[in-house]
Amino acid sequence: MKALVLERTRVLSLRDFPIQETLGEYDVRVGIHTVGVCGSDVHYYQHGAIGPFVVREPMILGHEAAGVVEEVGGGVKTLKVGDRVCMEPGVPDPLGRATRLGMYNLDPAVRFWATPPVHGCLRPSVVHPEAFTFRLPDNVSFGEGAMVEPFAVGLHAATKAQIKPGDVAVVLGAGPIGILTALAALAGGCGRVLISDVKAPKLAIAASLGPITPVNVLETSRVEAVSRATDGWGADVVFDAVGMPGSCAEAIACARPGACLVMIGMPGAPVPFDVVAAQVKELRIETIFRYAHVFPRALSLMGGRRVDLRPLITDRYAFSDSIAAFDYATAMKPSSVKVQIELC
Ligand SMILES: [Zn+2]
Repeated sequence: MKALVLERTRVLSLRDFPIQETLGEYDVRVGIHTVGVCGSDVHYYQHGAIGPFVVREPMILGHEAAGVVEEVGGGVKTLKVGDRVCMEPGVPDPLGRATRLGMYNLDPAVRFWATPPVHGCLRPSVVHPEAFTFRLPDNVSFGEGAMVEPFAVGLHAATKAQIKPGDVAVVLGAGPIGILTALAALAGGCGRVLISDVKAPKLAIAASLGPITPVNVLETSRVEAVSRATDGWGADVVFDAVGMPGSCAEAIACARPGACLVMIGMPGAPVPFDVVAAQVKELRIETIFRYAHVFPRALSLMGGRRVDLRPLITDRYAFSDSIAAFDYATAMKPSSVKVQIELC
């Protein structure tokens, strides 16, 4: 079938790619409609590796997908042909120890789309387990369905933060994950969110989506803005969606005594961490890796229009223009948030 293949670093091709997938008893075959381009896809395209994951053979990219069920295995009970769905891209070993402990996202044997050596979903169809395939509410488009995957990251972060009603949150970074985390924090009960970045157009989009106060760190100090907004007390929850040297210190400085700090962004190398600064506030520090069990929550919020992700889908490309989509995503205008590729 025709697929978007990363041949090697900086070389993409849209070509026929032999891929044989047999439909198991508890699998569905999904015709892919829309796939979002993620920062990790772009990173593999540009650098050929993320941490220990190195692209050694041609690999199909893409892991944020929605589509239509085309075929179901004999044991499938919850889905039928024609259902509009989105898919959770990581499939763990059901008998793995992490899975049995309820942390299937941490299963060392998890097979995650477009993480070498596992192929992604930028192709006409995939076979996927029913258990990781979710029906879209009628009012949720395929484009929104393909946004569930990155939104799940924010929802997982909000869940681990254990937000209480009316909490004030700070999100460092207004990239797609930062903005989606701000929306997840509001959905989780935060009264308001401050979000910081250096890109004014992204901050403007974030500010239009709810009680979200933009802080442009080219103009204002992040710590001072948080201090002003909280009478010098600090934020109840701080999400670091930047993950750069320095963002960690800023995150700690934005936190109130007893706050929770959630580390979302992944620094490319070890970064300094001021233990004492965190100790004197007795911060609770949480880390996240992808997500677990939040796709149904995302769809519940989106179907009820408690959360509207449509304004974040800023750029659409046809499948035949996939390479152009990736080249654009490599150097996006600051007003772009999410690039999607449509196969139908
Ligand atoms: Zn993604």
